[in-house]
Amino acid sequence: MVPATETPTAGSTTRNPFHVPSNLPVIITIDGPAGTGKSTVARLLAKRLGLDFLDTGAMYRCAAAIMIDRRIDPEDVGHLVSTVIGADLHFDWETDPPMILAWDAPMDHRIRQSDVTAAVSRVAAIGELRRHMVRKQRIIAAQHPRLVTEGRDQGSVVFPDAEVKFYLDAAAGVRAHRRAEQLKEHGVDVELNALTAQILERDRLDSTRSDGPLVCPDNAIRVDTSDIDLAGVVHTLEDHVRDRIGALIGDHENAE
Ligand code: C5P
Repeated sequence: MVPATETPTAGSTTRNPFHVPSNLPVIITIDGPAGTGKSTVARLLAKRLGLDFLDTGAMYRCAAAIMIDRRIDPEDVGHLVSTVIGADLHFDWETDPPMILAWDAPMDHRIRQSDVTAAVSRVAAIGELRRHMVRKQRIIAAQHPRLVTEGRDQGSVVFPDAEVKFYLDAAAGVRAHRRAEQLKEHGVDVELNALTAQILERDRLDSTRSDGPLVCPDNAIRVDTSDIDLAGVVHTLEDHVRDRIGALIGDHENAE
């Protein structure tokens, strides 16, 4: 089994990248459970295709961080949602990857901390908050119409008409192993069984909520990444995009 952890060269092989024609708006969604490598894959794919990259998990993580740091009662949904709206979550598109800000302050380090990870799925189950995030994500896509966006509901709820939709999956043990490797790179040692349990609990919460549950979207291309390394996953997705965009351009030319 090959762990798909990021290395300096991963995803940047000698293969020439396929660039989506610059006059073509295209939304590519990548959904799937925690630890499938979605974020890294989406970021590398966006770079190879010449598209922007949106990490929607960062938005929900920000909401969770705000709830913890401002000591907002999770039951007080109105207060939480109005505070998150007031924070004006937005990305700095000049940084790579785009950095998320709340009240114009960078949140990228805070949102990866373990208390935020532990709380985020419960916050993300709040319907009113999801509706706000969905609206924001559609506004972002209107401003960045050439986009690879990743999350749990991107192909099912937010962009059901996206040109290409992917669903990444992997065995739970592999996902926990990858997450452990990632954390180790950041100097954090975790116990694998505890991490597996945490990932499974997050999957359970994410897939059983009533608003925007984690599902494989209709017409999504499903890719099991358990036995493929990072570069292999990026290439697989890129091949699908190239075929799909080629067909779209062909359809467009035939219609003229
Ligand atoms: O992808 P990441 O692990 O950063 O996502 C953190 C959490 O945010 C997920 O476990 C999920 O609860 C929530 N999320 C969501 N919908 C999205 C993206 C993330 O509910 N589109």
